Order: sequence, then structure tokens, then C-alpha cells
Amino acid sequence: MASMSLEAVREQVRGEVYGPDSDGYDEARSVYNAMHDRRPAAVLSCVDVADVIAGVELAASSGLDLAVRGGGHSVPGFGVVDDGVVVDLSPMRWVRVDAEARRARVGGGAVLGDLDHATHAYGLATPGGIVSSTGVGGLTLGGGIGHLTRHYGLTIDNLVSADVVTAAGEPITASASEHDDLFWALRGGGGNFGVVTAFEFELHPVSTIYGGPIFFELDSAPDVLASFREHIADAPEELGAFFAWQIAPPLPFIPADRHGDTLCAIIACWSGPLDEGPAAIQPLMDAGAVVAHHVGETPFPALNSAFDPLLPAGLQHYWKADFVAELTDDAMAAHLEHGPKVPSVESTMHLYPLNGAVQRVAPDDTAFAHRGMSFAAVIAGMWPDPADNDANIAWVRDYYAAIHPHSGSEGGYINFMADDDDHRVQSNYGDHYARLAAIKKTYDPGNLFHVNQNIEPA
Ligand code: FAD
Repeated sequence: MASMSLEAVREQVRGEVYGPDSDGYDEARSVYNAMHDRRPAAVLSCVDVADVIAGVELAASSGLDLAVRGGGHSVPGFGVVDDGVVVDLSPMRWVRVDAEARRARVGGGAVLGDLDHATHAYGLATPGGIVSSTGVGGLTLGGGIGHLTRHYGLTIDNLVSADVVTAAGEPITASASEHDDLFWALRGGGGNFGVVTAFEFELHPVSTIYGGPIFFELDSAPDVLASFREHIADAPEELGAFFAWQIAPPLPFIPADRHGDTLCAIIACWSGPLDEGPAAIQPLMDAGAVVAHHVGETPFPALNSAFDPLLPAGLQHYWKADFVAELTDDAMAAHLEHGPKVPSVESTMHLYPLNGAVQRVAPDDTAFAHRGMSFAAVIAGMWPDPADNDANIAWVRDYYAAIHPHSGSEGGYINFMADDDDHRVQSNYGDHYARLAAIKKTYDPGNLFHVNQNIEPA
């Protein structure tokens, strides 16, 4: 793109516009996964809806690829594109809480920490994920799985409306009463349908929770995994918990002589009455030999950012994902073979239960196509040094090859996948793919929004 035309863009937008010759270009083009070193023609740091419209129109009129960036966490690096236009929403991180109505309106570039921080002041929260720097945008559009999922559902189950700039550059609102087809598609269909400039969420009375991580001896892992499977199947919905493999990080509550040991863990979050927390979590504590734990009364935003120090921006990321119909004994054996080989302190496998409130929403009520599944599994390879890429990627691939035959589902969660799994896209949207493709044709017939887990217009 000639510098002349960048000047013209600068006249149209209030936010910064970065080209390859601009100061700050390298920062403006960087995304969370350091594997993606892409050089866009222009990055528009959008401060408002008008800037977003300008960015969409620029991409449409120039024929350049368009990447839309919320929190920039996408493992395939969908928030940046070579030689194209990046609509960067990161200046739009505002949150407005209406405590009486128990609603929050959230800018399209906010991260989970922004949302938690703002709602916590009112003793309220909505389900998000488990790392505070993850974008509300991408996480929500894919579904949203986290600590409060069993109690209050997926993030999309709490979405009330979304302000969207369409491929035609038109700002519209999608909700149950306006553009309800688009509202359906946004809840699980990823970034395919437009730029969401504001999300509106229902909030719940969650302030201080009872929970935290419990680390177990590795030789307890068979018992811990079996107990977790059994207990979480019909535990009260106020109990959120996921299983993890974890090399012990140098945290003060873990004995220093155990730092660096490979352990397994359950991360628990009881969001019911606080005085019932200890009894609710005790069965998980009893699952195996505990090395250390940090369970207690915790402000919800603190639990939701507990992993942040371990996972700064700039690591290498390679992930694979499955939905799991039933965690069979054979599947557990595969986990027990590969999990203990976790190669780096940042890497892990998480097993998130999808029962409770998730199952109370009918399978066809939103675009998220996997309501019947018991768990979402993610094998998340994360490590700092590119010299270690081969070893870490091999661990993720070998682990996935061992568990996938037991998953009972071809598809995985779109937010937990790397770019070499694009052949699974149709399965990831499952039975909803055809309906999504028809809605895509209505709102983005030219597939302007294609830098994502792409749904082709019908
Ligand atoms: P981006 O890279 O900015 O965007 C991802 C996709 O969403 C792109 O296609 C982009 O175009 C689109 N997009 C983003 N914002 C908008 C918007 N406002 N309008 C339109 N399109 C938009 N997922 C969970 O469900 N639960 C978790 O606990 C969880 N933890 C994670 C922890 C880490 C460390 C990481 C790296 C990821 C985690 N994820 C989790 C996965 C996460 O949901 C996805 O990576 C998601 O895509 C991140 O969204 P983002 O806005 O940060 O990413």
C-alpha cells in the first residue's frame, strides 16, 4: 500500500494507523503467539465504530485480506495477516456495568481481565475463561469455556446482544429480537460474520469464590483422573473444576524441593455459598496424594488471572483439541501415557467438563454444536524458546494421536486449535455448518471475514 493511501486512511480514523514504515509498527503487528511474524500493509488501531467501518471498507475496496484482532490470543494468529489490513480493536476495552439490570456492555477489544475487574466492583461476573489476557471477542464468538461454565453456562449463553459492523460496513445490533439469525450465528460461529464492536452480557452474583489449584503426586494421577471423572458427572453445578498436567512452577505455596516436578492438578472454583465451599471441594482433595494446594476464599478475578504470570505474551504456541463424548477407560489410559511427558512448565492438557448449565441450553439454540459432549480437551503446547519447537510440537501431536480415536467426536473447540487443523473446520461446526453457511451468505457473501475458522458462504 502506498504511503499516500495510508495518509488518506489516517484522515478517516481517529485511532493510530501503522504502516511498515511507522514507528510502533512492530508492536502494532505482534500477536500473543510469537510463532506468527506477519507483516500487514496497515494496522488500524480502532477507537470507535467509525474507525472499524473505515477499516472494513478499506479492506473491501482494496481487495486486501482483513484480519480482525480482539485480544490477539488466537493460536493460529488470526489477529494479523501478511500484506493485508488489521482492524485492531485493542483501544476499545471499555466496560459499562448496569448493576441493577445485571448487565455489562463491553468493548469489542476488551480482555477478560477488563470485564472481571469492572464487574467485580459490583459483586458480579459472567463466565469467561481462565487467563485474564484472553480477548472477550474471540473467546465469546467461539463459545467461551471457563471456571463458571458448569454454574452459568458458556460465555455465549450469557450474551444478550452484540453490536456488529457487517462486511458491507453497516453497523447493526444482533439480539433475540433483531437480526436473530446473526445473533444465533455469533454464538459459536467465530469471527465469520462481522466485527463485534460491543458485547452485552448477563451478569451473576459471583464475587469471592472458594477454590484454587490442587497439585497431586504423579503416581496418584490414575486415581485423580478417575475420581474427577466420577465426581464431576453429577457434582452440584456451582462446582467448576478441570483436570490438568502441570510441571510445578516456582510458586511459594509449593515446597521448593518440588519445583520442576511433573504433577497433575485439579483447579477448582466453587461459586455457591462460601460456607459450603470446603465440603464441596473435599472430594476433589481426597482424589489422590496432595503435594500442595492453594484452595481458599479468593476474589473471582484473582482465580481468573492465576495462570497469567506463567503465560506472558511472546511464547510459542501449538495446540490441539477434541470434544469428548465419554471419557472411557481407554481414553484415560492414553492420557496417563502421554500427559506425564509434558515437556515444559507452560505446557499442559486441560480437561474441561461441559455438563451442568451448558446442557440446559438446547443443542440448536446457539451455533455452538457440541452441547452433548462431556468434556472439552485441549493439549496446549506453550514454551519460550523456538529451539524447542520440535520437541513440544511432537508432544502435542503424539498425545492427540493417542486420545483422538477415543473422543467420540470428529470436531474440536474452534478456540483451542492451531492452523494445521483447518481440515477439521466443518466438523468443528458440526451439524450447524450448513445453517452457518447460509447466514454467512446473508451477512458476508464475499467472505471478507475469512481470516478465522472459516465458514464459506453457502
Ligand atoms: P484474536 O486473535 O484477537 O481473535 C481470535 C478470532 O476471533 C479471530 O478470528 C478474530 O478475527 C475474532 N475476533 C476477536 N474479536 C473479535 C470481535 N470483537 N469481532 C469479531 N471478530 C473478533 N478459550 C476458552 O474458551 N477458555 C479459556 O479458558 C481459554 N484460555 C486461553 C488461554 C490462553 C493463554 C490462550 C492463548 C487462549 C485461551 N483460550 C481460551 C482460547 C481463546 O478463546 C481463543 O484463542 C480466542 O480466539 C481468543 O480471542 P482473542 O480475541 O484474544 O483473539
